This record gives sequence, C-alpha cells and structure tokens, in this order.
Amino acid sequence: MPELISRNPATLEEVGRVPVSTAEEVDRAIARAHTAFAQWRTDRSERQQMLHRCSVALTESSDRLSALLVAEQGKITPEAQGEVWISARAFDHVATASWDDEVTAPKAPGRKASIQKVPFGVVAAVVPWNFPVYLTVAKIAPALAAGNTVVVKPAESVALVVGEMVSILQSILPAGVVEIVHAGPDIGRRLVAHPEVRKISFTGSTGVGRQIMKQAAQTITPVALELGGNDPVIVLDDADMEQTATSLARSVFFNAGQMCVAPKRAYVPHARLDEFCEALTAVASKISVGNGADPATGMGPLHNEAQHAFVRSLLDKATANGATVVTGGGRGTDLPGWFLEPTLVRDVDDSSEIVALEQFGPVFPVVGYDSLDQVIDTLNGQEFGLGASVWGSDEAAAIRVAEQLEAGSVWVNQHNAVEVELPFGGMKASGFGREGGAAGIEEFLQTRVLSIRTPHGA
Ligand code: NAD
Repeated sequence: MPELISRNPATLEEVGRVPVSTAEEVDRAIARAHTAFAQWRTDRSERQQMLHRCSVALTESSDRLSALLVAEQGKITPEAQGEVWISARAFDHVATASWDDEVTAPKAPGRKASIQKVPFGVVAAVVPWNFPVYLTVAKIAPALAAGNTVVVKPAESVALVVGEMVSILQSILPAGVVEIVHAGPDIGRRLVAHPEVRKISFTGSTGVGRQIMKQAAQTITPVALELGGNDPVIVLDDADMEQTATSLARSVFFNAGQMCVAPKRAYVPHARLDEFCEALTAVASKISVGNGADPATGMGPLHNEAQHAFVRSLLDKATANGATVVTGGGRGTDLPGWFLEPTLVRDVDDSSEIVALEQFGPVFPVVGYDSLDQVIDTLNGQEFGLGASVWGSDEAAAIRVAEQLEAGSVWVNQHNAVEVELPFGGMKASGFGREGGAAGIEEFLQTRVLSIRTPHGA
C-alpha cells in the first residue's frame, strides 16, 4: 500500500508514515460527511458546546501536538506551542460567537418573509504545510460552527500532525462531522470536484488556487481562496530604527519566513538605509539556527528540499546580479537539514526576483526609496495583496499611508499579527473570502429567503 513518509526537516530522519487514501476512500469520507450533515446542522447550541470541548482538548494535547509539529514541520517549540494555542482559541471563538440564523424581512402587503442563513453541506478543506494545525482549524472551526461538515486534505508532508489533531476532534464530535484524507494533488482534485462537496476552502499557492477555481467552475461550487503573498514593509523617515528592527525581525524570521503574511521585503528611505540595515543585522545575526526541538534554537530549517533550493537559487541569482548580503547567507549549522541563516540583502530593486517573487524563506531584501507616493503606486500595481505594514513614529501619518495600500491586512508598527477575532484574507491575486472573526463564520453560510403569502394580506 503506498504511504506518505514524513521526514524531520532538521535531521532528515523519518518521523512516520501514513497510508495514502484511495479514490474510493475519498468518496466514502465525503459520503460519511454528507450523512452526518443532516443531524449536525440542527442544533447550534449543541454544536457550540462540542466546539468548546474541542478547544479544551487541543489545549490539553498541546505538548504532544507541538512536539509532532516541530518534528514534522521544522518550526521551533515556542512557535509550535503558539500554533496549537491559537488553534484552541479559534475553536473557542466560534464556540462563543453569536450571529443571526434568521431575520424578519421588511413587511410588504400580503406576505411575510424571513432571511435565513443556512450551512452549505460538505466543505472540502485543502491546506498547506506551513501552519498545518492552525490553517486546518481556521477552516474546520467556523465551518462546523455554521453547521457544515468537513473533509480535510492536508499537505502530504504534514499528514501526521494534522491526522493527530483531527483524531482528537473526532473523539469529541459525532461520526462523519470531520473526515480526513491523505494524498497529493490527484486526490485533492477528486475531492474538490466531487458533486457532493458544496463549498471549497483552500489555502495554498496562487497557482494551485487558480487550478481549483477553474475546477470549481465545472460544478459551480463556491470557493474561498487564501493564496500567496509578497508582503511589503514601508519604513517611514521618522521610524525608530532600533524598535522597528527588533519587532520586525521577529516577524520576518518567524517559521523561517514561511508564512503567507511574513514581511518579505522592506522599502526604506535612502537616507536611512544604512541605519536600518545595521539595526536589523544586530538582531538577525543573533538568531541561532538549528533543530526546532532544541531550546537554544531561534529559527528552524526550511520545510523541504524544493523550498530550500528555490530560496537559495533566488539568493545566488541576486548576489550574482550585484546584491550585497549584509548578514547571513550560510547554513548556520552542521545538521543535514534544509537550513539557511536569517539573511538580509541590499542593493536590490523591484525588478530583481528576490524582491518580485514570493520567496517564502528567511531572506529579507531591502530596497531604498526617495518618493513614498511612487512606492505606494508601485505596490498597488503589483500582483499580490495579502498583507503590508507601515512603520513610523507619527502614528497618524503611518495610518494615512496604510489606508492607501491594497491589501487584506495592513499593520502599523507590527506585521503578521493574525488574531482569531479579526477577518483575515487577501485582495487581488492573494485570493478572496475571509477566515476569522464574524466574517469567517459568514463565509460558511449561504442565504435562503422564506417568503409566505398570507391569507388576508396581514
Ligand atoms: P500548494 O498550493 O502547493 O498546496 C496546498 C495544498 O493543495 C496541498 O494540500 C496540496 O496537496 C493541494 N493541492 C495541490 N494541487 C491541487 C489541486 N490541483 N487540487 C486540489 N488540491 C491540490 O501550497 P504549499 O506549497 O503547501 O504552501 C505554500 C503556499 O501556501 C505559499 O504560496 C503560501 O503563501 C500559501 N499560503 C497562503 C496562506 C493564506 O492564508 N493566504 C497561508 C499559508 C500559506
């Protein structure tokens, strides 16, 4: 029987194996979720009680899940614990959220009507490897709260930790409410194309998002797409460089830069470029690289060979074209895994691939600017619109810049501060649909109007 093999990205040792789901198993998982939907949709308060228990169970399993997350995904232990923590928070958020399932429509002579919010049915949740636990929960929790059932397909390389998390949920929820299938894109395609899937929620690359949207057009299945990003950081000329560097470094190198809303490039006034690079170097050069399970490690490896090779090749091309590596650029450890030190690069411009592409690694290019208006125009003309941040001492001035940017999340003096209470998602090629907050639940509800002709025009 074919198996998915998970390897530790730091040591390259095998972590475990999971059998690959067959096409028939996918169909059966969808059928079970479809059957479970009839009952699951009926009692919202019972659902919310169970979702609260899911939150408690994840918190109680934090050590086990975090250790597996570190071994299989590569992140450092505190980040893994944080991922489990925010996942538990996401369940709690939907367990206590309130929304109107039904509102009375404005009266008209001869009829009464109500506008109802109803679940879709079976949701297909297709998820990537960078935050496998949280990104799965960010779909499951609101979808279940709204009364849907879910079939999850995690990325192939993180099957163990998502499988473990789903089995914790399954021990609480009725049979069929959450199902999981393990496989690559083929089975992913079968899942999203299935006629009994009523909504597709996808997080991953923009390229795969395009394929899924095209596929969904065949069955007219609604999709929510959380796609790639290339978040810019705009540093204003009054920024406190030490504070900016300290806070920014945490965001840039979080999860080794493999976060859709990682700050991926900085725009800094030419006059303050040296100061910015020095301040960021002082912080980045102190981050120790190693196995995420080692408490002394500040940043783990990249997740896989392809990702490592891609980021490495962008860095090599940039330096061949005249970029300067200010700090980092090496492996930083003797371990055999997919390591790259926190790296800062300057003497690059918007046209270089390391700035223009979503590199998804711990490399941070810095671009100098003279005209802020030109930076804003250029950014708004580009493909992605997931996140962005503006840094400066005059908060009102920073907000004025932030409000001109086309991005789903714009932060001031912080970056990638994702919170379960706030809607999260992209603009432009970064996708559409929202996760988190009230909008995250709304995403899994559709509108039905019940309109009744009254006998005497009452
Ligand atoms: P990916 O797009 O390669 O894969 C994501 C998932 O889709 C995997 O489970 C994969 O098996 C599946 N898949 C691939 N082809 C498919 C198809 N044709 N039909 C159905 N399923 C298919 O992404 P990845 O490499 O795992 O993750 C990295 C990407 O995810 C980056 O681009 C990153 O920006 C993006 N991402 C976005 C967000 C967000 O919220 N916007 C969050 C995290 C990651």
